[in-house]
Amino acid sequence: MKKTIGLLYGGKSAEHEVSLSTALAVIKAIKFEKYEVHPIYITLDGQWRKGPQLTEPLESVEQLQFDGDQDSGANNITKFIINENGEQIKFDVVFPLLHGTNGEDGTVQGLLEVLNLPYVGNGVLASAAGMDKVVMKQLFEIAGLNQVPYIHFLRNEWVKDQTAIIDICEEKLVWPMFVKPANLGSSVGISKATNREELTKAIQFALKYDRKIIVEQGVKAREIETAVLGYYEPKVSVAGEIKPNTEFYDYESKYKDNSTSLIIPAEISDSVYTTMKDMAVRAFKILDCSGLVRADFFVTDEDEVLINEINTMPGFTPVSMYPLLWQKTGLSYPDLIDTLIELAIERFEEKQ
Ligand code: ATP
Ligand code: MG
Ligand code: MG
Ligand code: MG
Repeated sequence: MKKTIGLLYGGKSAEHEVSLSTALAVIKAIKFEKYEVHPIYITLDGQWRKGPQLTEPLESVEQLQFDGDQDSGANNITKFIINENGEQIKFDVVFPLLHGTNGEDGTVQGLLEVLNLPYVGNGVLASAAGMDKVVMKQLFEIAGLNQVPYIHFLRNEWVKDQTAIIDICEEKLVWPMFVKPANLGSSVGISKATNREELTKAIQFALKYDRKIIVEQGVKAREIETAVLGYYEPKVSVAGEIKPNTEFYDYESKYKDNSTSLIIPAEISDSVYTTMKDMAVRAFKILDCSGLVRADFFVTDEDEVLINEINTMPGFTPVSMYPLLWQKTGLSYPDLIDTLIELAIERFEEKQ
C-alpha cells in the first residue's frame, strides 16, 4: 500500500523562497509508486493552503503556490488534514520542508506532535535549540566542542547602551567579527564587521530580523560540512568543502549566483575528518536530534577544527550540500527521502 505523505513547505520565514525550491525538488524526486503526495503550502503571511493530491512531478515553483480561501490562518491549519469530502486525511508521514522561523524552529513540529502525526526530521527540542545560535553554542560548550568565542545580547540592552555593547565586543573578541540574528538561517541578516562603525551598522541590520543578537569572532578558515542521518546511531557522510567566491558564504552566494564551488569529498586529512565526525555526532546527540542534521565546521590552516553550527533542516535540493554529501557516500536523493520517511515512522512508533 502507498504511504500518504503531507509535504509542508513555504512558511512564514525569511527562507520562504528556499523552501519552495526544496519542495519542488522533492516532488520531482519522490517515488510516486510508493507514496501518495499531498502538498500543503504555507504562505508568507502564514496561511495554510492544501493543494490537490499530486500523482506526478510538477514543473515549476509557481504550481506549488495554491490560491486559498480567505479563512483565518487558524482555520486553514485545521483544514489541512481534511480532504475535499470533509474526511480526515490520515497522513502516514508529514515532511516539513521548512527552513528558518515557524518551521525549522520547533513550532510546526509542536503542532504535528499535538496532532499526533509522524513527521520527518528533528523534534521540538532539537529544532528549537538548533534554531537559536546562542542556545546551540551553549549546548556545544557543555558537549566540550571547540568553537569561536562569542557574545550575545537582546534588543533592549542595545537600546539602553550601544557603546557598552560595542566595548564588550572589542574587549572579548578580535576583529573581524560576524554579527548574526540568533534565530535565522541562509545567512539572512548576517554581516562581517571590521571596526566599531561597521559593527554598529551590522547590529542594527541584524536587529531587523531578531531581538536576540550574537556577535562572533571571525576566523580565517576553510568551511567544511558533514551530513548526519539517523536516530539512535546516527551515520556521518563524507565531508564537503564550500568555496564561496564572495567575502563570505552569504545569501546571494548560497542561492543566487553559481560561483560557489562545493568540493566533495573535501581534501582533508584523516585525522581532521575523524575529529569532525566525532564532533558532528556529539552535536547531534547534545541537541537530541533525529532524522537529519548538517554540521558546519571551520578548519584553520593549522588544522584546528571548530564547529560553526548545525542546521536541523538544511538546504535539501539535489544541488544542496546535504543530499550531495549522501550521494557521494552512496545514498541517492530518492533513497535519502525514503530513509528519512522510514526514520520518521520508526521514531513515531517508538513513542506510541
Ligand atoms: P545556514 O543555516 O544557511 O548554513 P546561517 O544563516 O545559519 O547559514 P552561518 O552558517 O552561521 O549562518 O554563517 C553564514 C556564513 O558566514 C558562514 O558559512 C561563513 O561563510 C560566514 N561566517 C559565519 N560565522 C563566521 C565566523 N565566526 N568566522 C568566519 N566566517 C563566518
Ligand atoms: Mg544555519
Ligand atoms: Mg539554516
Ligand atoms: Mg551555516
